[in-house]
Amino acid sequence: MSRILIIEDEDDIARLLEFNLVREGFDVQKADTGHKGLTVAQQQLPDLILLDLMLPELNGLEVCRRLKANPKTARIPLIMLTAKGEEADVVTGLELGADDYIAKPFSIRILLARVRSVLRRGAPLENQESEWVHVGDLKIHTGRHEAVLAEETLPLTPLEFQLLLTLASKPGWVFTRNQIVAQIRGEDYAVTDRAVDVLMVGLRKKCGDFATRLETVRGIGYRLAEGK
Ligand code: CA
Repeated sequence: MSRILIIEDEDDIARLLEFNLVREGFDVQKADTGHKGLTVAQQQLPDLILLDLMLPELNGLEVCRRLKANPKTARIPLIMLTAKGEEADVVTGLELGADDYIAKPFSIRILLARVRSVLRRGAPLENQESEWVHVGDLKIHTGRHEAVLAEETLPLTPLEFQLLLTLASKPGWVFTRNQIVAQIRGEDYAVTDRAVDVLMVGLRKKCGDFATRLETVRGIGYRLAEGK
């Protein structure tokens, strides 16, 4: 049974989430402040965290930052719960390593679908088919979600990894931002073009010289140049 930690100060929302997640067979814990959430996360190591961004005292982004900075909790999948007008925070959260976000007000059905999707992505991969994708000096292990450049593993966030894998799946091919969004999400919902651009900035920073191969195609999108 997957264990889910809800960090949310609004009791109505926390209870609504708990009710529906328990009904779906999840084991649920709640924390109503960022500090409590961090403590529970470190002690219980849940399988997934639902994190409200607007929290008193310690805000959600800071909670996210601390979770991702702690090796014990860094790999726990995290979905942000966001309000209107928090788009910049969403991008920051994704950059910090959050896996996904859901804007309030949300439909429970969509929330459950995203929870399942994120849990699937984070599931142990030993039994799944996986293989290396090679592009020049870059090697990507699709199963392990690992990108290795000149024998060094790149410290990519899950979304940066998905972006790199998408581009590397067809070297030389130009992907529009919409195509990238569809690929890295795998589900039909909106992410801004801007988020793709921000991810690309982060990805390039982590790729050293290889970043020159990550080309912007003006007015269209991005491609991974085939190179020599
Ligand atoms: Ca709140």
